[in-house]
Formats: sequence, C-alpha cells, structure tokens
Amino acid sequence: MCCLADELKKVEESGADMLHLDVMDGNFVDNITFGPDTVLGLRSRSKMFFDVHLMIYRVYDYVERFKKAGADRLTFQVEATEYIDDTIKFIKTCNMQVGLAISPETNPELLLPHLAKVDQVIVMTVHPGFAGQKFMEEMLDRVEFLKTMKKNHPELKFEISIDGGVGINNAKKCIGAGADILVSASALFQKGQSMRHIVNQLQGV
Ligand code: ZN
Repeated sequence: MCCLADELKKVEESGADMLHLDVMDGNFVDNITFGPDTVLGLRSRSKMFFDVHLMIYRVYDYVERFKKAGADRLTFQVEATEYIDDTIKFIKTCNMQVGLAISPETNPELLLPHLAKVDQVIVMTVHPGFAGQKFMEEMLDRVEFLKTMKKNHPELKFEISIDGGVGINNAKKCIGAGADILVSASALFQKGQSMRHIVNQLQGV
C-alpha cells in the first residue's frame, strides 16, 4: 500500500478528474490486479471520484463489497454476466453510478438494450487484461456510433469513455470521435515528465 499511496498522491496532484481502478480476477482476464480491500485502502486516503472498472465474473456477488470499499461508480464488462439488467439495478440500488464496458471482439449491439440505464459506456481500445498495449484505432467507429445514438436520442445520458492505450498522441482523435472521458494509464507514467504536465496536455486537447 505504501507505493500505491504514493502513486495515488501523484494522481490527485495531477489535476485528473477521477481515479480509474482496473479490477482483474485472473478469470475473466488472465491478469490479477487487486480487489475491494485495496480500493478501501485507497479510499481512506483520497476524496477523488473512484471509477471502478470490474474485469471479473460474478459481478453481482461483488457489488456490495465494492460499495463498502468506497466505489463511486461500478462499471462491468458486458461479456461477464448473463444478468446484465439485474446487475445494473443492484448497483443503482447500492447508490453507485453504473457503467458497461465492451471488449474489442464483442458485438456492440449487445449494449443497445441497456444504454438508457447506464451512466457510462467504456469502449475498450485494447484487449482487456494488460497495460501498455497498442491503441486499436478502429474502435473509434464504436465511439462515433455511440455519440450518434446520444445525438438522436437525447434521453440517453451516458458518458462515453475510452480505455486502453490512450495518450497525448491519440487523445484528440478520441475526443473528436465523441469521447467524454479518457482513461490513461501507461501514458501518465513517462520518465522525465510530471504527471501534471501530461494531464494538462490531455485535458487541453
Ligand atoms: Zn479500465
């Protein structure tokens, strides 16, 4: 927790709008990161908005634990459960915002029945599981599609988030396609550059 706490401080001082936390369980994706205990540990040190992205199965079973850990928004993968509607409802009942994330290989039509019920849609621009992958530019078609959906249906209130390989080199394209939120990881940790400087650049595009 000591090192994570240091990184948390850097993010807080960077001017970023929220902290995006990728939870991986070694089943839905191959990698393992952390679970509710770590989120709780960070919560006690920060008042930032915690945008928790679950790349796990059995999402429903973990909703209350992440609520108790201090998540402000819980986003889960549309591929991870058959019980999408029930899970969305339960997250809302627990007074959290709710989001759906979609992997590159998944048909985006899976999102359609749920768009009116969520606060965020995360378009994954890498295969979920590992940081540092190359940005998949073709996924911006999905972002444009979602942006058009919002334009044609003003009752849709979700924000569009792009997650995976986002940095200064492609941020402008992401915003141009319709992204409201850019999730950056590796791009924020550049040798010789302060995180604040990088975040400023990302927010300025
Ligand atoms: Zn994420």
